[in-house]
Amino acid sequence: MKLVLLGPPGSGKGTHAMWMCGEYKIPHISTGAMLREEERRNPHLYEEIRHYIDRGELVPDELIFEILKERLAESDCRDGYILDGFPRTLKQAEMLEALGGVDLAVMIDTMPELIMERVRGRRVCPRCGKGYHISQIPDGKCTDCGAEVTIRSDDKPETIRNRFDVYDRVTHPLVEHYKNEGKLARIDGSGTIEEVAAEIRALLNGGV
Ligand code: AMP
Repeated sequence: MKLVLLGPPGSGKGTHAMWMCGEYKIPHISTGAMLREEERRNPHLYEEIRHYIDRGELVPDELIFEILKERLAESDCRDGYILDGFPRTLKQAEMLEALGGVDLAVMIDTMPELIMERVRGRRVCPRCGKGYHISQIPDGKCTDCGAEVTIRSDDKPETIRNRFDVYDRVTHPLVEHYKNEGKLARIDGSGTIEEVAAEIRALLNGGV
């Protein structure tokens, strides 16, 4: 099952991909997390891409594609994958076709007010990368490794505005693209995590 999760920042793509990868036994591939990983793995490359991320801009298609291509060639992707944050442009969607394509694109529809609240409360563990909403961790510590959670540099208010703008202009047209391909499913993402998860299960267990 080759899945793409679509939706603006804060729509819950990462949250749902986390349980889906365990349940459907296919890897969760977040290009944003892979880019953030580069800060530790390859600081030289990260210096090149940091200014895009910190301003809420997209990194160049070719660069992200090289990173994704390597990841999709790994053996755990043989039976499928859940892409979170890729594709983000029509060009990336075309590039993905060349690598194995997509069975279904799941758009998580969420109201803008809800998204802002989620993004404002979003925290990430700088050590292991696990994501939280601040209301889940009153002591501000990662429940897996105990590190003090932080606000992602691109979740600051001035950057987040630009990320929404980039989403509307460049990424949202992918919804129409997958609709035209007959591969789009829409999920109401405004419920609780459990409610949205139940919708996703009903969709996927109904047969892709
Ligand atoms: P995310 O964690 O998916 O919100 O991504 C964080 C940031 O990483 C984005 O705002 C972009 O700067 C960059 N990024 C992640 N995925 C992509 C992609 N597919 N294409 C271009 N830039 C990306």
